[in-house]
Amino acid sequence: MAMKHRVFATCDIGEAIQLLRQRGYEVEVYPRPEAPPKSLIVEKVKSGVDGLITTLRDAIDAEVFEAGKGTLKVAAQYAVGFDNINRADANRYKVPFTNTADVLTEATAEFAFFMMGTLARKMWAAEHLTRELKWGYWHPYLPFLGDEVTGKTVAVIGTGRIGLAFIKKCVGFDMNVLCYDPAYENHEFVKTIQEINDLRHARGLAKEKTWIKYVPFEEALREADFVSVHVPLLRAGESATPTYHLFNETTLRQMKPTAYLVNTSRGPVIDEAALARALRENWIAGAALDVYEKEPLPVDSPLRDAAIADRCRLMPHFASAARITRLSTDPDKGMAGRCVQGLIDVLEGNYGGDVTKMPYVVNKEAFGK
Ligand code: NAD
Repeated sequence: MAMKHRVFATCDIGEAIQLLRQRGYEVEVYPRPEAPPKSLIVEKVKSGVDGLITTLRDAIDAEVFEAGKGTLKVAAQYAVGFDNINRADANRYKVPFTNTADVLTEATAEFAFFMMGTLARKMWAAEHLTRELKWGYWHPYLPFLGDEVTGKTVAVIGTGRIGLAFIKKCVGFDMNVLCYDPAYENHEFVKTIQEINDLRHARGLAKEKTWIKYVPFEEALREADFVSVHVPLLRAGESATPTYHLFNETTLRQMKPTAYLVNTSRGPVIDEAALARALRENWIAGAALDVYEKEPLPVDSPLRDAAIADRCRLMPHFASAARITRLSTDPDKGMAGRCVQGLIDVLEGNYGGDVTKMPYVVNKEAFGK
């Protein structure tokens, strides 16, 4: 039986909490569905908990780490993105934090792909015709048409885990792929996809030859029929290539007027005021968003403008929201399982207590020699 560890979870993550309790952990779960106030997190940390289970809704920074000085040993983030955790502060206070990379990769990538199709084929507007009794006839082009995804060119911005998984889905739709990533180019992956493309063409599965290549950002925007964004949120000072407002008036204007933008990364990667204008003034054909500068999306958001509703899909930060991905207690399948395993690794000193060897710890740099 492990030592008794105290944990505060800012959110219920399902059965995985029971696993901790069965190991003898004392776990308090914030009972409400919305995020707890920061003051409560600080209070719990001050009371001496060893570990925190956090979500993207919780600001974890110096105030929290100061409250846990000498007692807080780990923050286990239930997400792959960790822009809510101040990494520099965590490092200063020498608190490791973990994330749940990989287990949500396919779920997020497929959701981005489905959003792309839903947007381009106008499925939302089409269903409204049926439901609102406005489907009066079958007609070659009235009341509107959508655009095919098959055979088109997609730009994938950020070729990390989710970007590459998204590309795998595009292969089956005979798409050409423009890749852009200033920090990580996976040429082995690109070569493999090209081989699959060539084989599909040679065996008659794809009518046209399709291609994939890395290109500069501007070229990706200029040439793409679809742009799908898969970057982390990095603010100025956090990276040599920050992603905050990567999509702004200038870059949105570089896209084709017939192109569609899909964002399942983080809201602040897009300047929403500029995007709303781009949609109103038809600089681009449409956008499908899962994430926003402010969540939940405020009632007065310009993205809610009824005039652009036919070309602006708005999802409630839902891309990883699939049953197994969210709740499986298997650390190789579910965010819940991976989240508690990250916590256990640190609190129980797995890997000989060497934080730099723990697979789910993010800020390993603070613990090297
Ligand atoms: P990852 O770290 O594997 O990949 C991110 C890639 O973006 C990296 O290759 C990095 O080099 C690249 N990048 C960094 N700066 C860039 C820039 N300026 N331009 C282009 N590329 C840049 O991360 P991942 O697992 O693929 O996840 C990506 C992000 O998706 C997460 O950080 C998270 O914010 C978001 N996400 C959202 C949901 C959701 O529910 N909507 C679910 C999962 C992940």
